[in-house]
Amino acid sequence: MAKFVGAHVSSAGGVQNAPLNAQKIGAKAFALFTKNQRQWQAKPLGQEQIEAFKANLAQSGIDPRHILPHDSYLINLAHPEEPKRKKSLEAFIHEIHRCHALGLDKLNFHPGSHLGRMEEDQALARIADSINTALRESEGVTLVIENTAGQGSNLGYKLEHLAFLIEHCDDPKRIGVCLDTAHLFAAGYDLRTPEAYEETMEAFQQIVGFAFLRGMHLNDSKAPLGSRKDRHHSLGQGHIGLDAFGYIMRDPRLDDIPLILETIDDSIWHEEIQLLYSLMEG
Ligand SMILES: [Zn+2]
Ligand SMILES: [Zn+2]
Repeated sequence: MAKFVGAHVSSAGGVQNAPLNAQKIGAKAFALFTKNQRQWQAKPLGQEQIEAFKANLAQSGIDPRHILPHDSYLINLAHPEEPKRKKSLEAFIHEIHRCHALGLDKLNFHPGSHLGRMEEDQALARIADSINTALRESEGVTLVIENTAGQGSNLGYKLEHLAFLIEHCDDPKRIGVCLDTAHLFAAGYDLRTPEAYEETMEAFQQIVGFAFLRGMHLNDSKAPLGSRKDRHHSLGQGHIGLDAFGYIMRDPRLDDIPLILETIDDSIWHEEIQLLYSLMEG
């Protein structure tokens, strides 16, 4: 079995620092923001910066396929106001181009929010439309939809939402999904026993399919099952508990994809990565 575990590392000081930060914690995979995630604008990536990123990545020994860039928190591909949806879509396409320039083949994003101003199915259709425009205006990068906790008016808390977006996508080869364990759990999908884990994964296989799985976020949850609250916790310290992460590490369906920690204490990521690898032995 081949498992590729890492964390969402900092790109403070420039994207070229992310592979170095991943290497420091013993990661075999990582996630990053390719720009400041709380701002709309970003300085374009310079050729020198791109080359520094690639050199540091080569030195880290991490395969670009095990990198799962995450888009800005500001982007809402469902925004009910057309000018704001357009602004989001432009920023999203811009981020896809940044990933491509860095030699990366994925971009992870949250579906979007209806902000209480649309029905869910209307909002999902709006997201599908945004995705199709983004696919038309870019190349080489798979768009990886993340399941959500369903906090507030966020869509993506039902596996059926992900399935809808895949079904309505014009280029299924360039669409994928990322499962976040804390989001699954908060949305009501249990993972705490072997039976519950298998039931959740079987539902995923039936509704979406492992063929579309491009990565996972491994987080414990401060919020209880079905609470619809997005509150990450360190592994084994939340309501999910450590056993679930053992089922994941021993599940061959989750081989060869980036498995990314977004847990709350980055000072123990190194230990959490070691802990996850130790769980492979069962
Ligand atoms: Zn996540
Ligand atoms: Zn989250």
